[in-house]
Amino acid sequence: VLRSLVSQVMGGALRRPALSSFSRGMQTVTLIPGDGIGPEISAAVVKIFEAAKAPIRWEERNVTAIKGPGGRWMIPPDAKESMDRSKIGLKGPLKTPIAAGHPSMNLLLRKTFDLYANVRPCVSIEGYKTPYTDVDLVTIRENTEGEYSGIEHVIVDGVVQSIKLITENASRRIAEYAFEYARNNQRSSVTAVHKANIMRMSDGLFLRKCREVAEDYKDIKFTEIYLDTVCLNMVQDPTQFDILVMPNLYGDILSDLCAGLIGGLGVTPSGNIGANGVAIFESVHGTAPDIAGMDLANPTALLLSAVMMLRHMGLHEHASKIQTACFDTIKEKKVLTKDLGGSSKCSEFTAEICRRV
Ligand code: NAD
Repeated sequence: VLRSLVSQVMGGALRRPALSSFSRGMQTVTLIPGDGIGPEISAAVVKIFEAAKAPIRWEERNVTAIKGPGGRWMIPPDAKESMDRSKIGLKGPLKTPIAAGHPSMNLLLRKTFDLYANVRPCVSIEGYKTPYTDVDLVTIRENTEGEYSGIEHVIVDGVVQSIKLITENASRRIAEYAFEYARNNQRSSVTAVHKANIMRMSDGLFLRKCREVAEDYKDIKFTEIYLDTVCLNMVQDPTQFDILVMPNLYGDILSDLCAGLIGGLGVTPSGNIGANGVAIFESVHGTAPDIAGMDLANPTALLLSAVMMLRHMGLHEHASKIQTACFDTIKEKKVLTKDLGGSSKCSEFTAEICRRV
């Protein structure tokens, strides 16, 4: 398990720009604390980074929906400007109003920075009791289109149409990312998840592109599986899976299922990788409004996302130090937040990790 934690979950996992693009010494990261528990868990990460003397200069930006020219929703210009400059963001959860109001800011961020690959390593954490102890897989989700293209309209009263958009370019791009990831991380197989038996044209195109790309990666085993079959097989035996690549909606759902296999959203990190050198790392859970402001949140997911970020930036020593302190704290079981089975506050859990780095 530890092998994975060090070398695969966080280790050099993401395609990254040349290190020369980052200045030596302090490096700027745009920090988007987010809503609900976001500010609490962001503050925890900042504290732990300080304790670890990580050479990061945080540039904090609020991301609230604003209307730009022509009434289009956009992220605030100062947040965009900061991201354009720093290229790297760490983001807490952002709330989305249901059925009305502004669109998902997460979606808007993905679109604004063309964050086309969502990468979620799911690896069992030693000492943390879950139904499985040896999960070690990565979901790679196409992040820009599918059912989440945001193309919806009323056809007639009482009838709404939502368009699932699948393009050749985006399908090829995500398939290439998955195979590159496999190669760079000594992974042996990539499985394409689809419903091409029903969605023959859209998922058919996605699958065709995956098959074509697989031809260029003969060293990586390629398999295909239906979405429903993978759900069944995943809960029966997750150890059979390695890297899974899939369109947007399927990835959204399946990656949460996989998070459940290793202990839930509170411990699952993620990275969103863009085509132009921008990357935003975020916890996969939401704003947890039921516990916001109560010092009860588990900051692990955001912290592990920040560890992924450090690796992405080439700061491996600091990443390992923080990661080890976090996992040792969980393994020892003395200071754990409620969702991890303990009774400690977020601030106490944070202080324990700080003590260990
Ligand atoms: P949620 O993840 O916020 O909460 C689900 C449950 O998990 C709650 O009981 C919550 O207390 C718990 N939980 C989540 N994170 C936790 C943590 N770090 N520590 C301890 N417990 C934690 O899901 P939801 O209630 O469906 O969504 C709430 C809001 O978050 C919605 O507005 C939704 O749109 C938004 N959301 C944002 C993101 C994101 O920004 N990436 C992701 C999912 C949901």
